[in-house]
Amino acid sequence: MKVISYGAAKTVTGSAHMLILDDKKILIDCGLFQGVDEEKSEELGFDPKEVDAVLLTHAHIDHCGRIPMLIKNGFKGKIYCTNPTYELSRLMLLDTAKVMLENYKSHMRRFQRGSIKEMPSEPLYDEDDVFEALEHFEPIFSYNKTYDVLGAKVTPKDAGHILGSCFYEIEYKDKRIVFSGDLGNKGKPIVRDFSLPSKANVVYVESTYGDRLHKSFDQSKEELKEIIKNTIKHGNVLIPSYALERTQDILYVLREFYEEGSLPKCKIFLDSPLAIGVTKVFLRNKEYFRKETYDIMQKEDPFSLPYLTMVRDVEESKQINDIQEGAIIIAGSGMLSGGRILHHIRHHAYKEQNAIVFVGYQPHGTLGRRILEKQNPVFVMGEPINIRAKIYTVNGFSSHADQSELIEWVNAANPEKICLIHGEEDKMLVLKDKLANKNVYIPSRKEVIDV
Ligand code: ZN
Repeated sequence: MKVISYGAAKTVTGSAHMLILDDKKILIDCGLFQGVDEEKSEELGFDPKEVDAVLLTHAHIDHCGRIPMLIKNGFKGKIYCTNPTYELSRLMLLDTAKVMLENYKSHMRRFQRGSIKEMPSEPLYDEDDVFEALEHFEPIFSYNKTYDVLGAKVTPKDAGHILGSCFYEIEYKDKRIVFSGDLGNKGKPIVRDFSLPSKANVVYVESTYGDRLHKSFDQSKEELKEIIKNTIKHGNVLIPSYALERTQDILYVLREFYEEGSLPKCKIFLDSPLAIGVTKVFLRNKEYFRKETYDIMQKEDPFSLPYLTMVRDVEESKQINDIQEGAIIIAGSGMLSGGRILHHIRHHAYKEQNAIVFVGYQPHGTLGRRILEKQNPVFVMGEPINIRAKIYTVNGFSSHADQSELIEWVNAANPEKICLIHGEEDKMLVLKDKLANKNVYIPSRKEVIDV
């Protein structure tokens, strides 16, 4: 067996790892590059006609976002995944096609007006391409069952990262290899904790947070509660949030605060049609929830509370701009790379009585990262904005395993070789150091690794 990483090699986005089994090729994930690497998305690096099957780990766009490009360029095989991954990928891909088209049109207008010099490149794909791609999905995988894919034994197991996420154990001839996809942070309210892998020869493991330990989820909930209490009387709380999983975790926690009587009276806006759609998919797949949340679900909607308004309409979204205090605004994108959160940043972030709460990873090159690094002013939709709002990071909401969880997971497989993927290189080196007694390697993009 051989493996070639075409993305998420020394970086956190663009996941795409080709497993070569004699004369067959299986691609594990095919995600978009984001942040500083965005432009790398245009080139797949391989011929999709030569790929025989895709194993998709989960529906985050940095894992599934280039699947329509495969089909557009001649891929004829099947894309295997769990049912929630299929339903969520559908929403995420359609949204991505829409956003790419909007961005293209707005850049084209600016180019025609002469305000930018470079002509924008065409969107990578459109909605029709997404619909074509969806025809190739085979959402037949259940956790812990073994499937035959092109002569390999493939076992998806729960990665505990987002709804329906899995890691793959693949056995071919006398070798076993494991691909982690993204591994979750334990103790989250909706998904179950990750399963452990069986003994393997080689493990490809993500390393997003290879350099640090998260605060516990309970501690993070307390932090969020304090921020809300301290801000809401005189200002608003902005939460840039990924539409998928993070938003549902936050709604779940806000409902908990409400139930225990610790949430001050406020208005909560979920200003994201995508997140609203995703929440519906969650409600349809409750058998993937951890037991406590499944039990709540038997009685009531775990993501709903009386202060909550779901905002689909653009006009309704604009009205939030006029609210001076007492609002919690949850909107995407989580890294501030686009979406309605930008309007809220523009209207609220220059006021010191407001707060921005980051609950997810902010890669290099994103507006979120620039705000965290205290660059001032920052450019929001082409306009310089002085950030005076208080900035908080509450990292226990992360959907990624921390250093100790990654080590626990890797040790369970007790592999002869560990390849670190899906991480920034400085963080990988810290994790490599922690695994010093093991054979750890950090593959480069397109490097061929023998298994
Ligand atoms: Zn992910």
